Amino acid sequence: MSREEELAANLAEVEERIAQACLAAGRERSEVMLLAVTKTWPASDVEILYRLGLRHFAENRDQEAGAKAAQLRHLEGVRWHMVGRLQRNKAKSVVEWADQVDSVDSVRLAEALAKAAHSRGRALDVLLQVSIDGDTSRGGCAVGDVPELAGAITRSGDLILRGAMTVAPLTMKPAQAFEALASVVSGLRDDHPTATAVSAGMSNDLEDAISHGSTCVRVGTALLGSRRLTSP
Ligand SMILES: *Cc1c(COP(=O)(O)O)cnc(C)c1O
Repeated sequence: MSREEELAANLAEVEERIAQACLAAGRERSEVMLLAVTKTWPASDVEILYRLGLRHFAENRDQEAGAKAAQLRHLEGVRWHMVGRLQRNKAKSVVEWADQVDSVDSVRLAEALAKAAHSRGRALDVLLQVSIDGDTSRGGCAVGDVPELAGAITRSGDLILRGAMTVAPLTMKPAQAFEALASVVSGLRDDHPTATAVSAGMSNDLEDAISHGSTCVRVGTALLGSRRLTSP
């Protein structure tokens, strides 16, 4: 089987799972975006997924992503997301390739990204990363810090708050975490009308996420296979 055939088969399977989960939840397929997480995989794989119709790609390391995006500049209509932990000193470099940063979890990071977006001359779409169980050591802010952080993002003028993202913690059932994230986002919408995205669900738990209101599933392994090196 060629890599193209392999990815086509994987994508068909993922699409079928998403379709079934939407059906079960009484939701439209169009309400859920498929974000392909291409970290550790070569630009040639992104190009294959692009030919198969995908347009949204995510990476978790600035350097790797910047190189890949540069190689793929000829693909029109691609949107790159940064989903990994980000140091403030990488903000300038990240906004050179990222259309959206899904992992904003501190006021200081938001400020650095706002400054970088301002100098590139184009506002940056962001999601708040929330740690539902309050263990912020793996990224994400505590639920209680969401209003302050959302305020800082909106006030900056150079960031557009699009919603929130979470990675299901190991300490609780994914469904419970996804439900909590959906309620964080619905709380945000009153003060921040652009904050509608609920980014939840990965290869192993996308059904749970879709049944609890996810509008974006971030899928790596189920599309591309097992990563040889696990990214932190
Ligand atoms: C790697 C990664 C994913 C994809 O995980 P899979 O289990 O391979 O689908 C999703 N979200 C984030 C933040 C990631 O780092």
